[in-house]
Amino acid sequence: MVSSIESSVGTARKIITELPGPKSRALHERRKAVVSAGLTNGFPIYIERANGAILQDVDGNQILDLGSGIAVTSIGHAVPELIDAVSAQVAAFTHTCFMVTPYESYVEVCEELAALTPGTHAKTSALLNSGSEAVENAVKVARLATGRQAIVVFEHAYHGRTNLTMALTAKNMPYKDRFGPFAPEIYRVPMSYPYRDGMSGAEAAARAIKIIETQVGAKNVAALLIEPIQGEGGFVVPAEGFLPALSEWTTQNGVVFIADEIQSGFCRTGDWFAVDYEGVVPDMVTTAKGLAGGMPLAAVTGRAELMNAVHEGGLGGTYGGNPVAAAAALATIKTMRDRNLAGRAREIGEIVLGNLRSLQLDVAIIGDVRGRGAMLAMELVVPGTKDPNAAAAKAIVSYCNQHGVIALACGTDGNVIRLLPPLVITDEQLADGLDVLAAAVRSAS
Ligand SMILES: *Cc1c(COP(=O)(O)O)cnc(C)c1O
Repeated sequence: MVSSIESSVGTARKIITELPGPKSRALHERRKAVVSAGLTNGFPIYIERANGAILQDVDGNQILDLGSGIAVTSIGHAVPELIDAVSAQVAAFTHTCFMVTPYESYVEVCEELAALTPGTHAKTSALLNSGSEAVENAVKVARLATGRQAIVVFEHAYHGRTNLTMALTAKNMPYKDRFGPFAPEIYRVPMSYPYRDGMSGAEAAARAIKIIETQVGAKNVAALLIEPIQGEGGFVVPAEGFLPALSEWTTQNGVVFIADEIQSGFCRTGDWFAVDYEGVVPDMVTTAKGLAGGMPLAAVTGRAELMNAVHEGGLGGTYGGNPVAAAAALATIKTMRDRNLAGRAREIGEIVLGNLRSLQLDVAIIGDVRGRGAMLAMELVVPGTKDPNAAAAKAIVSYCNQHGVIALACGTDGNVIRLLPPLVITDEQLADGLDVLAAAVRSAS
């Protein structure tokens, strides 16, 4: 099959032109005439092919990928199992619309989701195309099933860019600015942010719950929606005990606990899901990104009594659970299992956290190093203060890019560098990437 064709992409970073090279620059000029200026490119090198943790651009440069297309290609690029599964499915059939005539792979993906998401209760799923759509559907189901309207979200949260999910997302620029009006009945409460609030998990949960009870009223709340480790908002890892305390409160108050695991799920943090770390069992889980190895697929998985409360025809969409994307998800999950990529994520975490913590001792701009598994970050500050240092983050990303490494910034204040390497990255590739990153940090200091 296709996967037996030898990949021409090497295994090491190799820069042979200035970056972006001449062919990428020419493509970027073409793009300007026809692609909306509202879409920006972090690093406008145009990619031709990829393998493992290496992207090859149109000028023949080999770039080390520490971003995985924002936590999507966790199993790496050009994985033979994925290529075979997708190719076979394209040859068999590409679309029927599950609501018109169903097919087995959709059911099989839902079986995997029921088995892998936390808790042994009966669960059902709906498959969608994007993370935003999964979050929207989780909110729809929670409102219908509870007969309540209020949705509680957190500071620094990111849940998407559609109209409802813009309202759920915290940060104005660039996600929301002038795109309103936004959906009503969304209430935002403080996140546990140990580096900045110094609170224990229990204290931070009590603070959030007090606000919900006094300003919204527990009986009005349909769902509490939270990223167990925040993504775009800055890789904020809540203090231990925060998620269990919130989960307990939702159970006591008939509120649906929705874990948005779109970025943190599927082995990224060293478990199948980030909530597994503290044994939290959400009522609903939204997934996307790492789920299907780069094919567009998302899901909402929840307690059967919630998900099945919806009237016939109440959920769906033309492409949701597309057979090619479903085949990709099954191959992705199998690859994660066969190669123990959760275990590999934990190894990556130990290597990177050790490395960044020793770098932190040497430079004054790293305020905090945090993360779990292969979802890792450093928060940059003005030396001697905790003031966010977005300029340093920008300089570090730019240095990494110039040296052929993809690193991403994030955070409400744009001052966090996040690392989301493919979980199949080799020790040599990781060490190379960390060397470039360290040089970037020193040069920005
Ligand atoms: C990316 C992301 C989304 C939105 O997913 P899209 O596929 O971009 O719509 C929602 N929630 C979280 C936590 C995300 O990281």
